[in-house]
Amino acid sequence: MSGCVFCRIARGEAPASIVYKDEEIVAFEDINPQAPYHILVIPKDHIPSIMDLSSGNIYVVGKIYNAIKEIARSKNLEKGFRVVVNCGPLAGQSVNHLHFHLLSGRRLGWPPG
Ligand code: 5GP
Ligand code: ZN
Repeated sequence: MSGCVFCRIARGEAPASIVYKDEEIVAFEDINPQAPYHILVIPKDHIPSIMDLSSGNIYVVGKIYNAIKEIARSKNLEKGFRVVVNCGPLAGQSVNHLHFHLLSGRRLGWPPG
């Protein structure tokens, strides 16, 4: 998807502070952080949202959670972090490329807004 900013970040065509990368996923700092530690973990493939997951691509979600675990461990986030996936306009999804927010570094309120 040439017009998708997260595809461009995944291809290295748009700047981002990359914290993790492998063949299938990329993690980078959110441009507008909502917590002291706020990164986004995405599949390199253009999957618009949770609703576009299927038997052919669902494995990438496991890879993403494994990367989140390793990042949380390496950044010493064990005291607490939150993973958020907004799906659809009513939930506030503003970029239509599946992304997992990893938020940490402050007390996170519940319920979320
Ligand atoms: P959503 O609202 O879709 O759940 O989250 C999209 C997130 O992407 C937001 O937190 C927003 O700050 C972040 N974002 C949007 N455009 C860019 C960008 O070009 N670079 C980076 N690093 N983050 C972005
Ligand atoms: Zn994309």
